[in-house]
Amino acid sequence: MSPPSRSGVAIVGGGLAGLALADELERAGIDWHLFEARGRWGGRMHSLNVDGAAFDLGPSWFWSIQPRMQALAKRLGCDVFEQYSHGDLLYEDNKATVHRERGFASMAGSLRVDGGMQSLTDALAAGLPASRLHPATPVTGVDRQRGLLLADGRQWPAGHIVLAIPPRTAANLAFEPELAPEQIRALARVPTWMAGHAKFVAVFGTPFWRDHGLSGDAMSHAGPLVEIHDASPGSGLPGALFGFYGVPAEIRRDNPGRLAEATMAQLERLFGAEARDPRHTRVQDWAFEPETATPDDRSPPAGHPEYGPLTALEAAWGGCLLLGGSETAGAFGGYMEGALERSAELAGHIIG
Ligand SMILES: Cc1cc2nc3c(=O)[nH]c(=O)nc-3n(C[C@H](O)[C@H](O)[C@H](O)COP(=O)(O)OP(=O)(O)OC[C@H]3O[C@@H](n4cnc5c(N)ncnc54)[C@H](O)[C@@H]3O)c2cc1C
Repeated sequence: MSPPSRSGVAIVGGGLAGLALADELERAGIDWHLFEARGRWGGRMHSLNVDGAAFDLGPSWFWSIQPRMQALAKRLGCDVFEQYSHGDLLYEDNKATVHRERGFASMAGSLRVDGGMQSLTDALAAGLPASRLHPATPVTGVDRQRGLLLADGRQWPAGHIVLAIPPRTAANLAFEPELAPEQIRALARVPTWMAGHAKFVAVFGTPFWRDHGLSGDAMSHAGPLVEIHDASPGSGLPGALFGFYGVPAEIRRDNPGRLAEATMAQLERLFGAEARDPRHTRVQDWAFEPETATPDDRSPPAGHPEYGPLTALEAAWGGCLLLGGSETAGAFGGYMEGALERSAELAGHIIG
């Protein structure tokens, strides 16, 4: 296989943003190649498969105000359903006393994908020519003359280079010519949305909480999980719950056994003895995945950051280096919709 001509596009990152851009370039007949560090597609869109069902370890939801996500799921034939939200919410105070609240479901109306979010990125990748896709191929640097620098020592010349990776991880690449310190700071100060978080998933036989009039929603000031939701597929079977940890990243990393025990004790406090024996559990800690998070991401931002394109850096490279990925989107930055929004913008720019 010969490398592309200097007019080709090299995309770094096979998450939703990189794959969506590749898809648009492919349909426009543009020469492109995509380089992904991990051995799988999807980046933060990652699902666990158990008993023939998929459970999201990264993003779970999109919303009806996000047209691109809806259109993508429809085009790829992926079934969408509403987050289960019938029944009472549980609230645990800081003394671990459980209260039952009526008529409130924090994620009512949110939309989920039945095969898991990774089924969207898997379907996108499956529709692209394999000869242009380079999984398990980390990019270590970007050279204005030589193109991409790959971890195996190869170089990949390209007319346009698109970094469809979180800006903070881009700050760790080697740039030639070197970036000015303020340009590196501009990349490094963009928090990667949700990168400092960890998700816990527990798969049961049935969603037994529904039979007790519970939605599966729980908020806790006692922890270790601070927010829990029903994670069952559209059919409801097998039943599953997922939660976000409220424990700092380093403590999670250093005490996995105690964390697992405390998590199971919390599920039992909230949902009773039936929660004691899940068929399968999994912790996905994004804070320690170097393709997603940097040490700065271990202290997540308090609110949703303001995101947008990093145009100063692009201008300094004469327009041949473009910054993509959800964290560079203006309207829905940080969300999956933002990844699609920015990729559509970049495709328009490249295709002209
Ligand atoms: C726990 C969690 C929950 C979330 N919940 C939601 C939600 O409910 N709704 C929502 O809309 N969004 C949510 N998000 C955010 C959502 O996941 C992102 O907006 C979206 O996945 C971003 O896609 P992306 O392609 O821009 O980036 P990424 O998915 O991060 O993709 C970047 C890709 O680049 C690769 N890469 C990195 N460095 C290199 C390198 N040097 N060389 C080659 N490849 C590299 C990575 O492996 C990755 O595949 C959540 C995220 C997490 C972690």
